[in-house]
Amino acid sequence: MSTSYPPPTPQQWQAIVDRDASEDGNFVYGVRSTGIFCRPSCPSRPARPENVVIHPTTKAARESGFRACLRCRPAEPELW
Ligand SMILES: [Zn+2]
Repeated sequence: MSTSYPPPTPQQWQAIVDRDASEDGNFVYGVRSTGIFCRPSCPSRPARPENVVIHPTTKAARESGFRACLRCRPAEPELW
């Protein structure tokens, strides 16, 4: 992992907690304890914000070593 990404802002964390689909496409979040990244609207929520890093794109998340969540499939229909 060469580039480090920031933890969520309060607004981003709220979007994740609320499963706010209007934020889908604006960022994805990676969960460091699982190595998975998700859309803000993913039905499976991370336990703790301190385990979360925000990636601006799915490409950035994959380049950081995270794998796409199989529930919300953030990199489909295409990698962005
Ligand atoms: Zn997910």
